[in-house]
Amino acid sequence: MNYDVVVIGAGPGGSLAAKTCAERGLSVLLVEKRQEIGAPVRCAEGIGKKDLQKFVEVDKKFIAAEVVGAKIYAPDGTEITLTEEMAGNEVGYVLERKIFDRHLARLAAKAGADVIVKTTAIGMERTKDSVKVKLRRMGEEFEVGCKIVIGADGVESRVGKWAGIDTTLKLNEIESCVQYLMTGIDFDPEYCHFWFGSNIAPGGYVWLFPKGNNSANVGIGVMPSLAKRSPKEYLDEFVERNYSNGKIVEVVAGAVPVKGEIETAVADNVMLVGDAARHADPITGGGIANAMKAGYYAGIVAAEAIQKGDCSAKTLRRYDELWKNDFGKDLARKRKLQQKLIKMDDETLNKIMHTLANCKLEEISVKAMIKELIKRHPKLLWDLKDLFL
Ligand SMILES: Cc1cc2nc3c(=O)[nH]c(=O)nc-3n(C[C@H](O)[C@H](O)[C@H](O)COP(=O)(O)OP(=O)(O)OC[C@H]3O[C@@H](n4cnc5c(N)ncnc54)[C@H](O)[C@@H]3O)c2cc1C
Repeated sequence: MNYDVVVIGAGPGGSLAAKTCAERGLSVLLVEKRQEIGAPVRCAEGIGKKDLQKFVEVDKKFIAAEVVGAKIYAPDGTEITLTEEMAGNEVGYVLERKIFDRHLARLAAKAGADVIVKTTAIGMERTKDSVKVKLRRMGEEFEVGCKIVIGADGVESRVGKWAGIDTTLKLNEIESCVQYLMTGIDFDPEYCHFWFGSNIAPGGYVWLFPKGNNSANVGIGVMPSLAKRSPKEYLDEFVERNYSNGKIVEVVAGAVPVKGEIETAVADNVMLVGDAARHADPITGGGIANAMKAGYYAGIVAAEAIQKGDCSAKTLRRYDELWKNDFGKDLARKRKLQQKLIKMDDETLNKIMHTLANCKLEEISVKAMIKELIKRHPKLLWDLKDLFL
């Protein structure tokens, strides 16, 4: 079996890459190790409306809920309300990813990509200007040849390691997450909700994302280098305090890379997209939108390289340029900001939130808001100013 491109992993990044390659006339194989694309879901499923609309026609079959903004709670309970535009890349729609991921894979197949599930990539070997990808399907091993491999194999990516791309994650470059799908709980369904505090979620936050009918994804991300207990213990404490009447109907655990911008996501004949390339937002942990953007860019560059007959790292660097120009700088900036935020104590966070609570946030820009904060807390925020202004 020979293809122009083999895409490993059928999450949002992989499916967008496969679809883009196929639309440009390449032969593509999309390989997924799980038996069902999209399940089990390891995600709170939030995404900004504009980000989603860039890549798919929005269909209510994969939208579980729509929100108008976010409510943020300080360690002392002070609440601020952000509009959807101000709330980051996770707020707007809450997806039903079991359906959404499958929909994206179907779009790739419709464009001409071959899709195989329950098939794990277990290695790869570069020859002169091609790659042999080793696959295992129900105990049987076989090889597929291709000119380009797109590694979209998520946070635990092996493709990066096989290709010698440095994507290693230290303990302070990961958010360790646990999430419950809860029903029978009371909350404002117009908003996504976020709680901060060193006793609530050290180095991260607790979230509640509405899923309709008094159900919600209630989860936590903590930084293992700062947490004194497991994320589950922190989450159980939070749930007991706030939603003890609710029922937990699903549990998932997972990790989000919050490393920021990596130097390169390419090697000879290989590109990495999405969580495999550490493309998730270091502040929010949101990675669906960037994974789709990266998949799209990787598809474009794969088509260019194959037409040129040169799939070397030098040619594929164009992909680095595209994703870095789009959101790479944002990842680097957010990583710096995150490093500062995790050092802030609860008292400082409370002070900042008190100031914000007195602003009419919907009427002012983020820039104006930061200027106001610096005016009121010059000492606290002076070292953060470069990150915003
Ligand atoms: C608890 C939690 C909550 C989150 N909440 C949000 C949120 O609300 N909003 C948001 O934007 N992001 C969120 N994220 C992050 C988001 O889930 C990821 O950033 C996003 O899924 C990345 O997409 P991807 O295509 O890169 O990888 P993934 O969606 O992880 O897909 C990778 C795919 O590759 C497959 N695979 C892996 N190895 C192999 C192999 N060897 N062979 C074949 N297939 C393989 C996997 O089975 C998987 O299907 C959350 C993450 C977690 C853990």
